[in-house]
Amino acid sequence: MEKELCPKVAKCPLFNGTLLKVPGAEESYKNLFCKSGKQKWSTCKRYMTSEKVGKCSDWILPNCSLTLEQIVSKMKEKGELPL
Ligand code: SF4
Repeated sequence: MEKELCPKVAKCPLFNGTLLKVPGAEESYKNLFCKSGKQKWSTCKRYMTSEKVGKCSDWILPNCSLTLEQIVSKMKEKGELPL
């Protein structure tokens, strides 16, 4: 049975190949997160950030080593979210 796709695939620039500039670089992320069922895509930092603050910046990758709180702080520092 096909695993459930991440509900954000339609609008996610990483899934749609417009985020990373290296050809094919998205494929591993897609296989590890986007296409691997809820247990995996729910741990994607892009997914988690988007769920928490309603958007996700381009510098955030699925396996970003920062915690969600650190990501939100950094987005604020960069002016990507209101303080
Ligand atoms: S798993 Fe992450 S990278 Fe993949 S579509 Fe969902 S939000 Fe985007």
